[in-house]
Amino acid sequence: LAKEDGRNGFRFFRPNMNRAAEERLVLEAWLRKALEKEELTLYYQPIIEPKTGHIAGAEALIRWLHPEKGLIPPDKFIPLAEETGLIVSIGQWVIETACQALKELHASGFDDLYIAVNVSPQQIWSQTLVDVVKNALVQYDVPKGSLVIEVTESVCMAETETTLTALKAMSDLGVRLAVDDFGTGFSSLNYLKRYPFNILKIDRAFISDLPESNDDAALVNAMLAMGHSLGLSIVAEGVETEEHVAFLEERDCDLLQGYYFNPPMEKEKFLKLKDYT
Ligand code: C2E
Ligand code: MG
Ligand code: MG
Ligand code: MG
Repeated sequence: LAKEDGRNGFRFFRPNMNRAAEERLVLEAWLRKALEKEELTLYYQPIIEPKTGHIAGAEALIRWLHPEKGLIPPDKFIPLAEETGLIVSIGQWVIETACQALKELHASGFDDLYIAVNVSPQQIWSQTLVDVVKNALVQYDVPKGSLVIEVTESVCMAETETTLTALKAMSDLGVRLAVDDFGTGFSSLNYLKRYPFNILKIDRAFISDLPESNDDAALVNAMLAMGHSLGLSIVAEGVETEEHVAFLEERDCDLLQGYYFNPPMEKEKFLKLKDYT
C-alpha cells in the first residue's frame, strides 16, 4: 500500500511542476558539456566610426551551436549559466577566444581594432576575472586599450568593494571599461564618477524610435552631453536605419553599432569586411 501511495505521489507531482525543473536540468547538463564539445562560438559585430566609416571595434557575442536545436542565442542560456556558476568557466573561454581572435584580426589588416567582451556580475564576484584577463593579455600580446570589458549598470550597484577593486585592476592592465545598456538600469549616475569607465553604450531602446520620439531624442542628447563632459566615448547600440545614423552623426556620437551596418557574424566573415568609406 505504501509503495502504491509513493507511486501515486510521484505521478501526482510529475506532470506540470517538475516539467520546467526537468528541462532546466537537461539544459544545464547539456551546457556543462557544450564547452568541452566546442559547441560554443563567438560572433563578432562591427562598431563603426560615423565620420570615417572605419571599423573601430567589434563586440564579441556568444552563441551556442546545439547539434539538434541549432543556434541558441545568449538570452536563452546565459541566465542559467549565471545561476549555476557555469558562467565563470564560459566567461573565461569567451575572454581567451576573443583575445585570440583579436590577435588574428590585428594581423589581418584590422590593425587598430578593439574587441569588446561582455562580462556577468558573477564573473567579477568570482575573483578570478582579473587573473584570467591578465593571462589572456600576455598570451595573445594584446596591445593596451584593445580589449574592452562591458558591464551593465547592475554590476556597479552591488558588492561595490569587490567590483571597484576588480575594475580598477583591469583598468591598470590597460583594459578599457564600458557601461553596457546604459539608461536601462538604476542609472545612479554616481558610479560613473567612482568607477574607471571609458565608454558608454546607449541602449537600443533609446535609439529605435529616433528621430520621431521627442522624449528619446531629448534623452539621447542628454546622454551624449553628459558622457562627453565626463570624457567618455559613446557607442549607440541598435542602429538600424539611415535616420538613426544621421541623427547620431550630427550630434557627434563617437561610434555606432547595429543592423544598419552588420549583424553579429562569424569571424571568417568578419575578416572579409571593409570600412564603410
Ligand atoms: P548586449 O551586450 O547589449 O549585446 C547587444 C545585443 O543587441 C546583441 O544580442 C546583438 O546581436 C543585438 N543587436 C545588435 N545590433 C542590433 C540592432 O540593430 N537591432 C537589434 N534589435 N538588436 C541588435 P545578442 O547577441 O542576442 O546578445 C544578447 C545579450 O546577451 C547581450 O546584450 C549580452 O548582455 C549577453 N551576452 C552576449 N554574449 C555574452 C557573453 O559572452 N557573456 C555574457 N556574460 N553575456 C553575453
Ligand atoms: Mg554588450
Ligand atoms: Mg547592450
Ligand atoms: Mg544587453
